[in-house]
Amino acid sequence: MKALIWHDKHDVRVESVPDPVLINPRDAIIKITSTAICGSDLHLYDGFVPGMHAGDILGHEFMGEVMEVGKGVRNLKPGDRVVVPFTIACGSCFFCRQSQHSLCENSNPNAGIAEKFWGHATAGVYGYADITGGYAGGQAEYARVPFADVGPIKIDDDLDDEQVLFLSDLLPTGYMAAENCDIQPGDVVAVWGCGPVGQFAIQSAYLLGAERVIAIDRFPDRLQMASDWSRAEALNYEYVNIAEALKEMTGGRGPDACIDAVGMEAHGTGLLAAYDRAKQWMGAETDRPMVLREMMRTCRNGGTISIAGVYGGFIDTVPIGSVMNRALTIKTGQTHVQRYLQPLLDRIRQGDFDPERVITHRMPLAEAPQAYRMFRDKQDGYVKVVLKPWAN
Ligand SMILES: [Zn+2]
Ligand SMILES: [Zn+2]
Repeated sequence: MKALIWHDKHDVRVESVPDPVLINPRDAIIKITSTAICGSDLHLYDGFVPGMHAGDILGHEFMGEVMEVGKGVRNLKPGDRVVVPFTIACGSCFFCRQSQHSLCENSNPNAGIAEKFWGHATAGVYGYADITGGYAGGQAEYARVPFADVGPIKIDDDLDDEQVLFLSDLLPTGYMAAENCDIQPGDVVAVWGCGPVGQFAIQSAYLLGAERVIAIDRFPDRLQMASDWSRAEALNYEYVNIAEALKEMTGGRGPDACIDAVGMEAHGTGLLAAYDRAKQWMGAETDRPMVLREMMRTCRNGGTISIAGVYGGFIDTVPIGSVMNRALTIKTGQTHVQRYLQPLLDRIRQGDFDPERVITHRMPLAEAPQAYRMFRDKQDGYVKVVLKPWAN
C-alpha cells in the first residue's frame, strides 16, 4: 500500500510499504477513505517529539471501510463504515471502565518508555512516536485498528466522510476542553488558538452555557472564522496586549476559564518568547509555554485552566505562584475520544456542529508532503487539510 512515511525532521514521503495484517483477534483492517493532518502532526514534522524512527507511518485522524475483522470483533463486519478514535483503548481496564480511555493500561506496548519520561504510561495513539506505542498511523491506504470492538463507531451512509471525520480527534478534543471548564451560566471563556480544536472549543463553550467567548490568535482569517461562525470576540495578540485586553473586557476580573488550544509550539511576542525559542532550540526545554504562562496570569481568581494543546515534556519559567495563590484549577488530558463519539455524532445530526466547515483543503495522499509544508507555514489560508488516499 501507499503511506506517508516520516524520515526525519521536515522530511516526509509517500512510499510503498507492506499492507497491514490482523495480528490479534480484536483487530480490524480498515481501508482509509479520508484522513487528516493534525496540528499535533506538525510537532512530529518539526522534530520536537523524540522517539520517531525513519519508516514510521504518520496520522491519527482517519476513517474508512472495514475490510477484515479478527475472531474477537463481533460488532463490525466487512463493508461497515467507521470513524476511528485516535486513542487506542481496551474497554475493560481500570481507566477504560471510568471512560478515561486515553489512560488505557493495555494499549501501549511501550509503556516502559512512557514511564521513564512521564512517570506513568498512557494509552496507545496511532502514528505518534514510541512513547504512545509506536503504532502505524492512518495517513495511508489501510491501517490495522486494535481493540476494534471498542473504538471505532459505525457511520450510516446518509452522513458523508467530511461530516464525521473529525469525531476521530478534533471535535471531541475541542468539546472536552470546554467541558473541562465546568462552565456556569454567564461565564466568560477565553480560547487561545483558533485552529480547528479552538473553533470547536469555542462552539462547545457556547453550547455548554458560556455567555461570552474571547478568541485569541495571530491569523486574521482564523479569528474571522471564530467571530463569523460562533460570534466570538476576536483578539489578535500581534496587535493587542492580551492581558490588558482581557482585564478590560471582564471588568478587571479576568475570564472565568481559559482554554489552551495551541500547545508546545506556541508563538508569542517579547523577551519570554525569544527565551523559549532559544531554550527549545538548545534542547533545554521541550515545549514553549507562552500560552500557559499567559493563561496562568490572566485567568480570574479561582478560575479554570483547560489544556487541550499537546505538550511533550518539560517547561520552565512557569508562574506556579499565581496558580497556587489565586486558587486556579488546571484540567487537561489527551481526549477520551471513545466517551464522546456517540453524543457528538448525535449533536452533528442535530446540527449543533458542522465540523466540515473547518476543511480548507482537500488533496490526494500523494500530495501529503506538500500539504505538511504548506500547513506548517500556514500558506494559502490553511486551517485543515483532508487527504483522500483513494482519490484519482
Ligand atoms: Zn489530531
Ligand atoms: Zn483500557
